[in-house]
Amino acid sequence: MSSELDSILRSPKAYLWARKAIEAMETHRVWPTALNFELWLHYVAAKDSEVAAEINTVINSGEHFTDQMGEEIASHHLPAAKLSGEILTAGKNLSKELDVVSRAIETARETSELYGQQLATASQSLGEQGDQSVRTMVETLSNATQKVREENQALETQLADTTDELGRLREHLEQVRRDAMTDALTMLSNRKAFDESLERACEASDARGAPLTLAVVDIDHFKMFNDTWGHQTGDQVIRYVASVIGRVGGEGVRFSARYGGEEFAVIFPGERSDVALAALEQAREEISSRTLKRRSTNEDLGAITISTGIAEHRRGDPPVALLESADGALYASKRAGRNRTSLADIGSSTRAA
Ligand code: GH3
Ligand code: MG
Ligand code: MG
Repeated sequence: MSSELDSILRSPKAYLWARKAIEAMETHRVWPTALNFELWLHYVAAKDSEVAAEINTVINSGEHFTDQMGEEIASHHLPAAKLSGEILTAGKNLSKELDVVSRAIETARETSELYGQQLATASQSLGEQGDQSVRTMVETLSNATQKVREENQALETQLADTTDELGRLREHLEQVRRDAMTDALTMLSNRKAFDESLERACEASDARGAPLTLAVVDIDHFKMFNDTWGHQTGDQVIRYVASVIGRVGGEGVRFSARYGGEEFAVIFPGERSDVALAALEQAREEISSRTLKRRSTNEDLGAITISTGIAEHRRGDPPVALLESADGALYASKRAGRNRTSLADIGSSTRAA
């Protein structure tokens, strides 16, 4: 549960909010599942939250709020941070454990193989010399050895199977880890992955004295688009913008993410703001010049535009300072009329003619 909601549920008005949430759910014929309750608590008690905005969009569209919509909104907006954090920690720990176990099994396998070989060699060399009694003894020993070797082989097969199974388990864990870092709608990295990546990028930039640039992108007037064309079509547009931004971030060591609802970010390690500006201007032109169509009906939806803010990391500054700086430039783009890319500090902005 989000910390925002946590504080609502521990406030003096907790029961009031809970009742209001249930009432609102009844009014809108929403099933009182645990997830829906959590979402509708946001709706009544955290009116400025993105969850509340999403619910409003659905209500305004006149569509019935389904469990599936609830799940989709939750997957985008409820802070998965706590859950994914726990999964990641558990995953990392388990992965380490598996490494230790795998190595132990491998060592045991090699030891048992060596033991078998040594016994075989010893019995062979003894068998070639010596008298009858020794030979009989050797034969007995050799048979016993053979048995041990067979048992060892069975054990080896079993150990190899276990190692394979552990390998599959590790792959599965890796997949879970990747999922926890990926935004389900766009398949771009999510906010959590972005935050980690930005932190690492700042550290690397500080350590090497190399430049680092950040771009934050926001779709213009997207609320209006949603209100006009509906949430589902809005989602398709977010996917489309994500694909363009993903391409900008797909080059070299760049990193792109869906930072929030209709917000994206691209990290440019080792690159200056002029390079980022050129890349984002190209993306802006590509997006604004495309006429969007509704997939199901081929209906013309017009074009959408994006605004971007770009900032360069100042050595020693924390990641949040870089984010704030890029956000400030984004705000300047919005204020200057949207469909622009602005650089922080310098205050310059560009726009297609
Ligand atoms: P601005 O140009 O100032 O950015 O205007 P805006 O309407 O885009 O800004 P605002 O932040 O007020 O609204 C963002 C909207 O984006 C609100 C919400 O309905 C929509 N949105 C956020 N996440 C999603 C999503 O996952 N899917 C859809 N369809 N809409 C979303
Ligand atoms: Mg926004
Ligand atoms: Mg917007």
